[in-house]
Amino acid sequence: MNVTAIAAPTHEEVIRVEDRASGLIGFIAIHSTELGPAAGGLRMRHYPSEAAALEDVLRLSRGMTFKNAAADLPLGGGKAVIMGDPKAKTAAQLRAFARAIDGLSGRYWTAEDMGMSPADMAVMAAVTPYVAGLPDGNFASGDPSPITARGIFNAIRITAKHRFGSPVLAGRHVAVQGLGHVGWHLCKLLRAAGADLTVADIDAARVAWAAQSFGAATVAPDEILAVEADVLAPCAIGGVLNAETIPALRVQAVAGGANNQLATEADGAALHQRGILYAPDYVANAGGIINVATEILRIEDREGFVSEKLTALDATLEAIFIRAADRAVGPDRVADETVASKMQRPRAA
Ligand code: NAD
Repeated sequence: MNVTAIAAPTHEEVIRVEDRASGLIGFIAIHSTELGPAAGGLRMRHYPSEAAALEDVLRLSRGMTFKNAAADLPLGGGKAVIMGDPKAKTAAQLRAFARAIDGLSGRYWTAEDMGMSPADMAVMAAVTPYVAGLPDGNFASGDPSPITARGIFNAIRITAKHRFGSPVLAGRHVAVQGLGHVGWHLCKLLRAAGADLTVADIDAARVAWAAQSFGAATVAPDEILAVEADVLAPCAIGGVLNAETIPALRVQAVAGGANNQLATEADGAALHQRGILYAPDYVANAGGIINVATEILRIEDREGFVSEKLTALDATLEAIFIRAADRAVGPDRVADETVASKMQRPRAA
């Protein structure tokens, strides 16, 4: 296994990991350890090039710094990616990657993200202690997705309150992009609250199953971002809110689980100009890392910690919306400023 340092002036430490024997290439990016050890999931997906994988890990790890700070967790921001089809992953690749994580001596903690499961985390945990999201054992927190979905559901209610004057979702129409771990749990919660759903996924079987399970209307993956609805919940990939898609949106609000929904900072302003209320992604989707944090921080009362932090997160989102409205700017801008101010505060001894 070969580890090479990569120069990235915006980050504390970035490494490229290669294991020829198992055919592994991946990256680990530590954006900041200012608030604590860097924590953020491991993603495996097909990337067209190493440059694309590196760009993703740099963006995602920065997002984790913001997310962990927004959730008031004593954790910094980091992320890891493995290049390749998650369906073809091998235990040897996971073990090699775990050795690289171990070499960082606790400056980076991993957990599952797209393409990874609690079972994969268990394979890695046999090599290094710096793995969370385990299926069993002391402090094991398991799959974070249901808690992520709970946080997003709360964020949609708060967004509805600020956009429509009521958090009640009965009769509201929500368009959900992506029916994976997060999107599926979210659909369940939305349906139970009486919302009407339109869904899309590139996996046709999931779409058919959602139509049956939730009475959801379905559209093709390239149509979901232009569906006329009250709220759009992006729960698949990043960069979906961009110069091309924003003018075509036919919703009043966006609140979903995908990381890095805004392609650029200018896209937050573009949403604001269109009068579309945007729940900053790293606030809306912080439930998962809150759940993972119980394992890293070895919290005895997991449910109590999660509930308390989710309630605080709701209050943070409310405050962001109120301040954004007062100043007539987009909530993404206020969220970034909120995080920046938390990071400048001296840490408790
Ligand atoms: P997942 O891999 O389980 O699900 C993603 C789903 O999106 C899949 O069903 C996939 O087929 C679908 N998809 C991919 N491209 C699509 C497209 N172009 N159009 C429609 N559907 C598409 O991943 P997940 O764990 O559900 O995560 C979803 C998003 O939420 C990701 O951006 C992830 O980083 C973010 N997120 C996840 C968690 C968590 O707890 N899992 C926490 C925070 C953020």
